[in-house]
Amino acid sequence: MADSFEMGPFRPPSEAYSLLIRATRNCPWNRCRFCGMYKGKKFELRPVAEIKQDIEAVKSVRDRIKELSWRSGYGGEVKEVAAMMLNRPPNHAFYNVALWMYGGGENAFLQDANSLIMRTNELTEVIRFLKETLPEITRITSYGRSKTAAKKTLDELVEIGEAGLSRLHIGLESGYDRLLQYMDKGVTAAEHITGGRKVVESGISLSEYVLLGLGGREMWREHAIETARVLNEISPDFIRIRTLSVSPGLLMHADVESGDFARTTDEEVIEEERLLIEHLECHSNYVSDHIANLLQEVEGKLPEDKEKMLAVIDRFQALSPEERANFRIGRRARIYTYLDELNDSRKHQAVEQIIDRLSQGSHEIDEEVVYNLMEGFI
Ligand code: SF4
Repeated sequence: MADSFEMGPFRPPSEAYSLLIRATRNCPWNRCRFCGMYKGKKFELRPVAEIKQDIEAVKSVRDRIKELSWRSGYGGEVKEVAAMMLNRPPNHAFYNVALWMYGGGENAFLQDANSLIMRTNELTEVIRFLKETLPEITRITSYGRSKTAAKKTLDELVEIGEAGLSRLHIGLESGYDRLLQYMDKGVTAAEHITGGRKVVESGISLSEYVLLGLGGREMWREHAIETARVLNEISPDFIRIRTLSVSPGLLMHADVESGDFARTTDEEVIEEERLLIEHLECHSNYVSDHIANLLQEVEGKLPEDKEKMLAVIDRFQALSPEERANFRIGRRARIYTYLDELNDSRKHQAVEQIIDRLSQGSHEIDEEVVYNLMEGFI
């Protein structure tokens, strides 16, 4: 009996408890200068029969966990048994199934970077088979590219939605054409709009990811304003915020090193976020679910929460330079999540000690040090 199946390396944070089904391998575009997710890996479509075998393997693991629950006196309740499995899983696949069952067993995520690139009839066949084989799954999501969504007909997207795809996660990154071109995103603002609107119209829920800091010092204003314009045209269900980090493996790392791309500081990124929010007129949930975002509490439903969200930014910007530095370092050192934690004297003190150490007593922190902290190198 198969008890293993193939899994890709990534899923969005919001899919932490989702079953991972690898529909394709890696990224068919793979050229974005700010992304290292699949660098050096070749894109491949997987045969439907192979994906189905994986789904069968999931079923087999699920049934074993259920059976174990009966044998261990839990009467078929799987949460306890799944939790035990998480401690000593025989392999990654087993771990993923246990985690999925522990999280309620209702969600699945189709990997990798752009499942929409599959032929529509093959994608719908996979989704239907997944639902038939594991009928407890009620929500299926995936990553997709705007360009691919723009190329599908509305009827095709409706068919995919009707088969059971509940949500697409699309990396918008920016709505500014010059920046999209510079970063080799392989899509224009107009294609972002066409693709995004089609997804919304098809009834599939849409999450668009925005990358703060992507415009650097040169293009930050246009990046914020044009991104808001594109989002206003799409009105996605979710706008998910990410912040640029530049690790050595990225193509744009060389641009940073050579000085061709000047990175914005945390404080400049927050100004950029303000401009973005000020220009947003869509009806979307604005979500900041990533550790690299400085102000993770800037979240809400647009348009009604706009002022509340801007008030968080006001609050940060009104802090003294020392307190802003304390928050930035505390946040990058994973000590703070929210601004209110500045009032926690124990945490505040711990951050001061870090600042002392990093600045060798001068209290002047180099931006490079903040970037390094953020990117996890310290
Ligand atoms: S399309 Fe997405 S996954 Fe592919 S290289 Fe660009 S950002 Fe990365």
